[in-house]
Amino acid sequence: VRIVLDFDDLHWREPENCLDTINLLVNSIENIKINFFTIPFLDYIPLIDNSKWCLEIERLIKYGKIRLYVHGLRHSFNEFLDISYEGAIKKIDVAEQIFYASNLRFGKVFKGPNWGINKETIRALIDKKYDYIYVHPEQEALATEFCQYIKFITYNFNLSDLNKTRPDKDLTIMHGHTHNVCGNGIKEISNDLINFCREEKPTFKFIEEIW
Ligand SMILES: [Zn+2]
Repeated sequence: VRIVLDFDDLHWREPENCLDTINLLVNSIENIKINFFTIPFLDYIPLIDNSKWCLEIERLIKYGKIRLYVHGLRHSFNEFLDISYEGAIKKIDVAEQIFYASNLRFGKVFKGPNWGINKETIRALIDKKYDYIYVHPEQEALATEFCQYIKFITYNFNLSDLNKTRPDKDLTIMHGHTHNVCGNGIKEISNDLINFCREEKPTFKFIEEIW
């Protein structure tokens, strides 16, 4: 089985920081690859304010264990839902500048905070040459409307279910959080994930490697 693991809300602030669990998973699961939707300016706190953390994250990126993608700017509610095209361009620019200033590589994949994304934001992402937009399964209509201009991705497995069911698809996109919310926090599911990987020996993919 091929597995995409994705977790929302990475930042060095607690409880969104999950560096210990990342290291646990990297040390426990050979060939693991983890996709992180990262918040560059969470509640006005830029990633660069913790340069030691950024260095450790960049090291994991360099070794091919994790990749970062853009999860809004501040992750405020409706941040990319009530916004103009020009406003979206500006906010995405600032988000990218913070990644650059923090010396953190990132892929051009975007997920709106709280799944919020409007058509103006989608147009801004297309013009800024993003490769993928990650939407919720219920946002299929948006994906259909714009799929000739940009690729869309969504999840088909909630990591909170890993203790009761096994994925049965050839490509399973597993979704969770970097902190313990929605029952799918990386720390609370880590044992289930390690056991699953020992039994199934899946192949891991970064989002950009799917197609
Ligand atoms: Zn989020």
